[in-house]
Amino acid sequence: MELHGWGRYPRISSQVEFPKTVLELRDTLGQPNALIARGLGRSYGDSSLADHVVTTEHLSRFTSFDANSGLLTCDAGVSLSEILAVFVPQGWFLPVTPGTRFVTVGGAIASDVHGKNHHVDGTFGQHVAHLTLMLGNGKVIQASPTEHADLFYATCGGMGLTGIIIAATIKLKPIRSHLITETTIKAPNLDAVLQAFEDNRSATYSVAWIDCLAKGKDLGRSLLMLGEHVDNGGLIAETTKPMTIPVDMPVSLLNKASIRCFNSLYYHRVRQSSLTRSISYEPFFYPLDKIAHWNRLYGKPGFVQYQFVLPKHTGVTGMRTILERIAASGRGSFLAVLKVFGAENQNLLSFPLEGYTLALDFKAEPAVFGLLDELDKLVLNFGGRLYLTKDARMSEQTFKASYPNWQAFEDVRDRYHAIGKFASIQSQRLGLQ
Ligand SMILES: Cc1cc2nc3c(=O)[nH]c(=O)nc-3n(C[C@H](O)[C@H](O)[C@H](O)COP(=O)(O)OP(=O)(O)OC[C@H]3O[C@@H](n4cnc5c(N)ncnc54)[C@H](O)[C@@H]3O)c2cc1C
Repeated sequence: MELHGWGRYPRISSQVEFPKTVLELRDTLGQPNALIARGLGRSYGDSSLADHVVTTEHLSRFTSFDANSGLLTCDAGVSLSEILAVFVPQGWFLPVTPGTRFVTVGGAIASDVHGKNHHVDGTFGQHVAHLTLMLGNGKVIQASPTEHADLFYATCGGMGLTGIIIAATIKLKPIRSHLITETTIKAPNLDAVLQAFEDNRSATYSVAWIDCLAKGKDLGRSLLMLGEHVDNGGLIAETTKPMTIPVDMPVSLLNKASIRCFNSLYYHRVRQSSLTRSISYEPFFYPLDKIAHWNRLYGKPGFVQYQFVLPKHTGVTGMRTILERIAASGRGSFLAVLKVFGAENQNLLSFPLEGYTLALDFKAEPAVFGLLDELDKLVLNFGGRLYLTKDARMSEQTFKASYPNWQAFEDVRDRYHAIGKFASIQSQRLGLQ
């Protein structure tokens, strides 16, 4: 099968297996070549790509739910969308959710995803009570912060390289309504938006859309969205049918002029300095899910998403320097998202560290790769790192210089029979065994 991540770059031909039971899953390990697990393929780059891929599509049962504690046990192939459909009407929500609900529980753990509430609630892995993993020798074991803790902290954020997550128990969060109060604050430049993040540190959810092509006094102009769960208004699981982009668009649709025009219109859509409204959780958390296959907008060559984090002490200067470089290149994306992160966790390869993170899309074209290499150097100089689940091109040197626990991660993999058994195109590029 031809496979690719959400960025549709790179594309490869793979042998893909769809086991329906744990026994069938174990059989996939009998082959000589290493394999990688795959959920819904919403990682942007090559982390779920390999010559031999095993999907969790058919491992998708709910096992148990404790309505006193909110603990849900389900298979790794269950999607966040399926959890919301069943549990929002019962008054429960995800503790942490990325910007799409079409990801699996296994994928959310393996990437240790973050949401708009990282500064308050940390990552997805911090709400996993325990998980069940198939090791490279076919053995199935449980891992948690108290049982095989080394394996647990390597698996959360471990990009599928420690084993195949079969099931997990996660703690859901009680809600009284499916509605969110959203307040949008217009920030005229970078200093203003970073200050607004700090002023609203107690907000449960915060995220800013940033005009990455604005220059000079407008550099970093943004709309900051804050959100809180509402106490009334019903408990309705959203099931809006998305619009779809049916075919690949000509690449020329997303050029410098159209992106500049979109960014300007988007920024000026909010006229007053601040606007508050109540909206369902779906448009608040998942605006992009409204358009199925929006990734086709970039045309056949696909795109790369570039997400970096800078620590707080270098964040303001670093963000300014990087935004200036991107604005000067004229190669900005029409979706650039800025978030604030809280404290780093114990997971060996988790991405977040306390500071600021920015995510941007770039068309996959030759000139972009040179620009991104330059940005890598800036990110490293400012003490930051890149997000593995978005990456399709980072060098081994950049990875090893910015993820200081990579050797400890390899040691855990060695202890638990993962080396030579689990590998992706990404892990090979990054020099992991
Ligand atoms: C529109 C959009 C918005 C996004 N927003 C955010 C965001 O706000 N925050 C954020 O953190 N991420 C975000 N992401 C990224 C996404 O949340 C992650 O890439 C997530 O891991 C995708 O899950 P998946 O099930 O599609 O996994 P895949 O893409 O299939 O795989 C991702 C990784 O998980 C591993 N994996 C998958 N299943 C298993 C398993 N059962 N056992 C072991 N390893 C496994 C794979 O090997 C791979 O390394 C976004 C993605 C999109 C497309």
